[in-house]
Amino acid sequence: MNVLLVEPVYDHPFPHLFTLKAITYWRSQGESVRWTKGNAVEITTGCSVGCGFCLVPKLYGVRSRRVDRWQTHFADREIWHVIDDNLSQSMLSIPSLADDLLEFFGAAGPSHGHPIDLNSGIEPRSFTDEVADVLTQLPVHPWRTALDETSEAPYTLRAIEMMKQRGVDPKELHVYLLYGWKDDLADALHRLDLLLDADVTPFAMRFVPLDWFGGKLEYRPPHWYPLHYIDFARYVNQMKRRSLKSARRWSFRWFLENCTSHDHRDDPYLKGET
Ligand code: SF4
Repeated sequence: MNVLLVEPVYDHPFPHLFTLKAITYWRSQGESVRWTKGNAVEITTGCSVGCGFCLVPKLYGVRSRRVDRWQTHFADREIWHVIDDNLSQSMLSIPSLADDLLEFFGAAGPSHGHPIDLNSGIEPRSFTDEVADVLTQLPVHPWRTALDETSEAPYTLRAIEMMKQRGVDPKELHVYLLYGWKDDLADALHRLDLLLDADVTPFAMRFVPLDWFGGKLEYRPPHWYPLHYIDFARYVNQMKRRSLKSARRWSFRWFLENCTSHDHRDDPYLKGET
């Protein structure tokens, strides 16, 4: 697979740090990468789900709203980079949005060569068969959803099943796995196991506080040993899917022995101190 990465927006001599990390990630997955022209476009904005770790409802409101003339922003772009807050929920509350999406994107069809990079296409709790039917007619690549808390697992797994039933390759389903908020390492490992069982591609994402805008991160996750908090994303996201699946021993000990940057023999988890 050839992954298209959007060129940095500003005229810096070097790509943005996030882009460099994205290159590293995709190459670690055995993919080739090339640059493309693109821009980030919102079709709708706002979200009413109200996840406690997310700024969106506070910044953009709890009501889904359509962005005016969004179609014009896609002109001359090789990749359609859609950064809606909650597109699937918007499709349920904004009249005729589904028809507009089908008319604009569906006309191109999957063979047109314009993939839609959906920042968050599937919000598990509000995902319905009707929304899945429309979205799977669009040339989305890859798909993204989330398993941010264990309580969300029935909804995420149901959404994954709905996409599989419509012919979506589960490897193309990238699932954000938030950690370091209210969970602990055991909880994160359990959710990782659920995702590997479902054969999707997990993407571990560290929680950082809503009021952190750069600089030294003082946050200490309440139930995580600090080094594990750093190591979890580093290792989960760098391991190839095959290695992740063949490991299938996501015990504390396996994680500590294989996926930590410090001497695990001194690890407080193994000493039973935490
Ligand atoms: S569903 Fe997504 S956008 Fe909405 S509050 Fe939760 S994380 Fe934020």
